[in-house]
Amino acid sequence: MSVRVRIAPSPTGDPHVGTAYIALFNYCFARKEGGQFILRIEDTDRTRSTKESEDAILAALAWVGLSWDEGPDKGGPYGPYRQSERAAIYREHADLLIARGKAYRCFCTAERLAELREKQKQAKQTLGYDGLCRELGADQAAARAGEPHVVRLAMPRTGKLVFRDELRGDLEFDAAQSDDQVLLKTDGFPTYHLANVVDDHLMQITHVIRAEEWISSTPKHVVLYEGFGWTAPKFIHMPLLRNADKSKISKRKNPVSLGYYRDTGILPETMLNFLGLMGWSIGGDREKFTLAEMIDGFSFERISLGGPVFDLEKLAWLNGLYLRDLSPLELVARLRGWRLDDAYLARVAGLVRERMRRLDEFVPQVDYFFAGDLDYTAVAASLVPKGKTGGDVAAALAAFAEELDTLRGPFVGPALEALGRAFAEKLGWKTKELFMTLRVVMTARTASPPLFETMEVLGKDICRRRVRQAAELAARQKG
Ligand code: GLU
Repeated sequence: MSVRVRIAPSPTGDPHVGTAYIALFNYCFARKEGGQFILRIEDTDRTRSTKESEDAILAALAWVGLSWDEGPDKGGPYGPYRQSERAAIYREHADLLIARGKAYRCFCTAERLAELREKQKQAKQTLGYDGLCRELGADQAAARAGEPHVVRLAMPRTGKLVFRDELRGDLEFDAAQSDDQVLLKTDGFPTYHLANVVDDHLMQITHVIRAEEWISSTPKHVVLYEGFGWTAPKFIHMPLLRNADKSKISKRKNPVSLGYYRDTGILPETMLNFLGLMGWSIGGDREKFTLAEMIDGFSFERISLGGPVFDLEKLAWLNGLYLRDLSPLELVARLRGWRLDDAYLARVAGLVRERMRRLDEFVPQVDYFFAGDLDYTAVAASLVPKGKTGGDVAAALAAFAEELDTLRGPFVGPALEALGRAFAEKLGWKTKELFMTLRVVMTARTASPPLFETMEVLGKDICRRRVRQAAELAARQKG
């Protein structure tokens, strides 16, 4: 059977470096084996999924230079490739499991579940569903099928659940530790587990290559495969990317959005090369290689499970090697493809022309539109409004970073201004105070073009990084 692999991102945020990382390993394996690489959008979380995020994920994967053979934009023989368009398929499959006695309808109300949780908490028991509705007779449950209910997986209650991870060997889990997972929610939409297993089977996925964090879900998936009477694919869980302190990579410690790397001028080929170094080696001490070379030398035996550190210094060093391979003219072409293109320059020019008398004033005025991290040494005092402490500013900026993270919709001046005003009020700061702090954060200057338009042009990834960097700096400031 020919190899078929997939990535299955959930479109609930910005394109994540982890998505490109997992995509890269799936892609290399598929190309090496002459198989197919599929992109499936897992948008079953109706409240958090957006089309905007889906589009951004597709664009970011295209930016790094990975292409897929089947997907929501391309179609293919196993579509649709967007889970929100497959609801009927999951419902049918939930019914199939019920008919086979592997799943059951659960009519417990939210109140009962909350009470149960409270009782379990007080008795210091493991939290989870107690299986009340599992005891209902099939006829009784079928007769109530018109009432609001969820469908739960009937997990084995005793014994061991074992599955083989191709990198780790057999992994064993205690069945008693597993809850009767919800498969279909009251609104008829599936949870991740059901949709993921049904789709991997129907799309004939042979190898599930995904991040380590899904290991704990896999026993449930294996029970699902057995419940359907299907053969499970092979499982390969890639080591998690880590922050410098070895914790799981997180936006609080490390930019995780691919957009940040694009906007700070990491070349897409560097990005792929760097991700290829995460837990994998092409052999010897060799660190610089192309995608074609990675495919050529690809094998899972070359993966090591120690937590790969996403080290920004190393990424910049590697990018430098790639830049030095370019002729000056090629480098200019790359600069133009980055932020020195007409569209971006025009946006910057539009903002600073009010403040210019001669053309030679342009470049000295616009450095922060082309920089990643800023040097705040000269303006550090202006970060802190009168009467506030470095600690106040650090806390305010950390909270503002969260606000920016959760801002929905386009990252544009008016929306940012509304956010800024509401945030100042929440904080109990004068808008003037907050806006000056933010101006310094964004520009490392005390005078600049209108703040929120400046932020719009800088883009959300750069803005968020600056807010977090400045928060750290403020935290270190005395007073
Ligand atoms: N939707 C899951 C995610 O967001 C997919 C995990 C998997 O590959 O099974 O990563």
